[in-house]
Amino acid sequence: MPAAPKPDILAAFEAAKGFMPVDEGLALYGAGVEAGELGLPLLEVGTYCGRSTLLLADAARQAGVTALTVDHHRGSEEQQPGWDYHDPETVDPEVGLMDTLPAFRRTLHKAGLEEHVVALVGRSPQVAKIWNSPLGLVFVDGGHTDEHATADYEGWAPHVAEGGLLVIHDVFPEPEDEFTGQAPYRVYLRALESGAFTETSVTGSLRVLRRTGAGI
Ligand code: SAH
Ligand code: MG
Repeated sequence: MPAAPKPDILAAFEAAKGFMPVDEGLALYGAGVEAGELGLPLLEVGTYCGRSTLLLADAARQAGVTALTVDHHRGSEEQQPGWDYHDPETVDPEVGLMDTLPAFRRTLHKAGLEEHVVALVGRSPQVAKIWNSPLGLVFVDGGHTDEHATADYEGWAPHVAEGGLLVIHDVFPEPEDEFTGQAPYRVYLRALESGAFTETSVTGSLRVLRRTGAGI
């Protein structure tokens, strides 16, 4: 049996705003628990309101490591007002821009997982540029343009330790299945072609790859 989160964490996951279905969440959790055994932090790109962060946080708690999560909290292109994935509740009325940080903090607090997470609030490439330590797992679930997905891969994949996991969300090999573009699929192909990663599991649009070589 693969590791599964406790019912209260699963309930918090299902109650949180976000875009990840349960089967993919369980796969992410399993990857987090496995990677946690390396004793290195687990890092997510794309916090949004903390739905997937909860699972990495619970996996990190089990392993005694820290979950890190990066987001500028101003939303991706497709989440802006007027777009399909917009949620008006995520807009800060005073500033007039999206701000998902308060919802994220509530999600974590309610689940009792605050102490296991460090939130990095900023643009992913800017944080990656000053990052210099190995990671047990990198979960790429940020912006879906080629510019963003490529920058996330180039900025974070090199920090995945040997034996660690690179998890990519929203990988849609068939153009007719995708909702927000195929940039994550292109990044996934690039990771495989680099020779540094080997696929270990596929669940819906979630791909788990293991770092088995150098070369990125
Ligand atoms: N992992 C979340 C969903 C993330 S949605 C879940 O499963 O619920 C994608 C998030 O990526 C958005 O919150 C958006 O603000 C963030 N994002 C997009 N481009 C970014 C960038 N360049 N730097 C930091 N965050 C970014
Ligand atoms: Mg996603």
